[in-house]
Amino acid sequence: MSETLFTLGAGPVDLYPEVRAAFTRPVLSDGDPGFLSFYERVNDKLTRALECSTPAVILQSEAILGLEAAAASLIARGDVVLNLASGIYGKGFGYWAARYAKEVVEIEVPYDTAIDPAAVEAMLKKHPEIAVVSVVHHETPTGTLNPVREIGAVARRHGALLIVDAVSSFAGMDIHPEDSNADIFVAGTAKCLGGAPGLTLLAVSDRAWAKIEANKDAPFASILSIKDWRHAHRADRGFPFTPLMADMNALDAALDRYAAEGPENVWRRHASTAAACRRGAAAMGLDLWPRSEAIASPTVTALKAPDGIDAEAVVAEVLRRHGVMLSAGSGELAKKILRIGHMGPTAHPIHAVLALAALGATLGAMGAKVDIGAGVEAALAAA
Ligand SMILES: *Cc1c(COP(=O)(O)O)cnc(C)c1O
Repeated sequence: MSETLFTLGAGPVDLYPEVRAAFTRPVLSDGDPGFLSFYERVNDKLTRALECSTPAVILQSEAILGLEAAAASLIARGDVVLNLASGIYGKGFGYWAARYAKEVVEIEVPYDTAIDPAAVEAMLKKHPEIAVVSVVHHETPTGTLNPVREIGAVARRHGALLIVDAVSSFAGMDIHPEDSNADIFVAGTAKCLGGAPGLTLLAVSDRAWAKIEANKDAPFASILSIKDWRHAHRADRGFPFTPLMADMNALDAALDRYAAEGPENVWRRHASTAAACRRGAAAMGLDLWPRSEAIASPTVTALKAPDGIDAEAVVAEVLRRHGVMLSAGSGELAKKILRIGHMGPTAHPIHAVLALAALGATLGAMGAKVDIGAGVEAALAAA
């Protein structure tokens, strides 16, 4: 058994030291006035980080809960939903949407490309009855970005509400609920914020609240409920269920760290690490998975596994040889894609150098033609 020395995969990420330390803070009772006011302060910090004008909402489980809750709460029985699928998360959201909607129409594109806002516009013209549009900003399994701002502008023009999965992009680049016209914007703690999986971070627009409150089928008194937690941030209101105090402590530390470093600085190091990764991989002789660099994510770099080489076997071997945990693809693309994550604490170019060196050495040993030296030099030069 090899020891994991560096976690450089597509998430969850290793924790910032401040976040790790916060898990040792006292866990107060949920009725403790100290905890009630602490929760309100953390919620305020989150609202500021999200740059939203409505108070943020925190759901008490990993980010996947927020996505399912968004479908359950916002989509009413009579709704037609437009689901945009450029990858596995987008495709998966369509299955949730189908549970709650009258009908789901979908635009699906190859998983190395992005959704074209013009196609969204055409679909909304053809189906003016579409009430909700859903999109994933960053398809983590394939490292591709969708143009959510443009898609959000189109949805807004047509009066449709927009659900954005920004779980692996928020806090790693300049993306926020209101600049993308998102009505429900879903983020998490375990990607670019450098925390552990445990909480869903939501921004909900006034329009979305009106629809949720009017939706008789929206869950309440349920783990899937968004509205149960609408007022939880108010110290005078209390909680519908027990909040995850240890995770709230960690979120507090992650948000403090994000604010202290400065969001622009955090985004910049994500972008420069991604650039180092792409330059290095290209010089090494590896191809990017996204069809164009313009849609390549600043938070995860997805590469094509060289012909005849199984990406899952490569990832296992990199860990065994070097103690470096990378990621393969997911689902049907599991064996075809190699991923280097650079989120939160590992979004420093030196991690790209390390990941590429370990990857290159292993690929070389497995018979691929790679130029490790050129890759490392190019990654260092780009950093
Ligand atoms: C990681 C991820 C999720 C799910 O987050 P969890 O913390 O695993 O629940 C959802 N969407 C995208 C795009 C992700 O990258």
